[in-house]
Amino acid sequence: MNLIEIDNLKTYYRTEAGDVAAADGVSLSVSPNETLGLVGESGSGKTTVAKSIIRLLPDNGDIVSGTVKYNGDDITEMSMKDVQRKIRWKEISMIPQNAMNGFDPVHTVGAQIIEAIRAHEDDTTKANARSRAKELFEDLGLDAERIDDYPHQFSGGMAQRAMVALALAVNPAVVLADEPTTALDVVIQDRILESISELQDEYDTAMIMITHDMSVVSETCDTIAVMYGGRVVEVGDADTIIKNPRHPYTLGLRNAFPDITADSQELISIPGTPPNLVDPGEGCRFAPRCPFAEERCWEETPQPEEYDDGLVVECHRADEAEMLREEASKRDT
Ligand code: ATP
Repeated sequence: MNLIEIDNLKTYYRTEAGDVAAADGVSLSVSPNETLGLVGESGSGKTTVAKSIIRLLPDNGDIVSGTVKYNGDDITEMSMKDVQRKIRWKEISMIPQNAMNGFDPVHTVGAQIIEAIRAHEDDTTKANARSRAKELFEDLGLDAERIDDYPHQFSGGMAQRAMVALALAVNPAVVLADEPTTALDVVIQDRILESISELQDEYDTAMIMITHDMSVVSETCDTIAVMYGGRVVEVGDADTIIKNPRHPYTLGLRNAFPDITADSQELISIPGTPPNLVDPGEGCRFAPRCPFAEERCWEETPQPEEYDDGLVVECHRADEAEMLREEASKRDT
């Protein structure tokens, strides 16, 4: 059974230039203990999908259609009060991209973690919650005494780790992690990923990991969803996608990392620019940047299709993947 089931989600931002279709028909699912990696260039809609799940969109953002089910209940239909009371933090927590924004500046970091724990566990004493918060701090390589500091006393990297502590403290069923380890050194990054994975095993926690870092994806994810221009263009088993992707965009991302097992590497962008999400028009959104685009790619919008290897891909030429992969590797050498 899927914990999270997103079906044809459309989330738009109202702007003076028109509606930005940041998530434009996204379907995804996550089951207990699964880590789904959401990858793609900046602006492809990853954060929008995560924020839609817990309804944390900015004022000009709206879910215009589609469903986001958590354990069968449609979160998009719930009142904001119910989302806040029953879902956010308790069931689904989020480690935001800018961790500092996740904390209330007027309370100490520890007080916020303790409050979160006690809000979800009626019978936990303050002292117990405090010792758990300290333990989590230590697990994440932070000095436990610093739980009495205010958020502004933390550096960016420390705030990010404290945010991970907050997100994990309440043992949620799902953690949405938006670039949880960017800007951290490799040792701390590994420690965070290890803590997350220990917690996952202990509590069957599911995770949606948004990242630009392909070494993080290959180490931690069971499944991968590749986003491009507001759509999931390829999704499936992580090893299959890393070794034998079908979508030319994923191929481009993968070939930008000749050795994905090496130390942390940033995504290198593929030549060309992402599509205009105000009026993407007909045809494949990747066609202007795709080395394999044919006439139909410019005219007909590809629909998701499932292949023998289990990958679900939106590409007119995905059935020729083996040949495309060979071609791509010839071009790169
Ligand atoms: P990044 O990795 O940079 O966070 P992303 O893949 O998470 O990128 P989103 O942040 O979801 O992408 O943005 C998707 C699109 O929506 C982008 O074109 C972005 O400019 C646009 N967008 C995001 N927030 C808003 C907003 N509040 N108003 C208007 N457009 C927005």
